[in-house]
Amino acid sequence: MLAKGRWRVLMLGLLLSSTAAAMPGPRPPVIEVADPTLDDFAQTLIEPGHRPVIRYNPLICARAGRALCVFTLWHELGHIVLRHASRHISLARKEREADIWAARHAPPAAVRAAYRFFLSGHGGSASHGSSLQRAARLRPFLLPPRRHI
Ligand SMILES: [Zn+2]
Repeated sequence: MLAKGRWRVLMLGLLLSSTAAAMPGPRPPVIEVADPTLDDFAQTLIEPGHRPVIRYNPLICARAGRALCVFTLWHELGHIVLRHASRHISLARKEREADIWAARHAPPAAVRAAYRFFLSGHGGSASHGSSLQRAARLRPFLLPPRRHI
């Protein structure tokens, strides 16, 4: 049995080896840091010459539920893989792209959790767009839960 933090590192490792392998350029190894003082789910810090760092708040994640938290980590990873730190596009476009990238790549249950969160009026901001705009971005990527026969 893996500890939760270890599981997340493995998840990101798997993601980077499968998704980034198809993309040009170097693969960005990512460091994940649990930070209970962070005032949001997660945040990415990218500095030239350093590995990207995703900080996440384990307390907010525990309250919100694992699936929603996983979506936010994939959103942050989207910023890294899409090289948002070095592209000169608007912040609103970066946030939109990260949402769509996460919707394409995150596990279906995480995308559904984020969709419900946005649809219920949460997660909107000036840079991210309204909560309903964010829900609309995710809608084309929603997959129904698996049914076991
Ligand atoms: Zn973002």
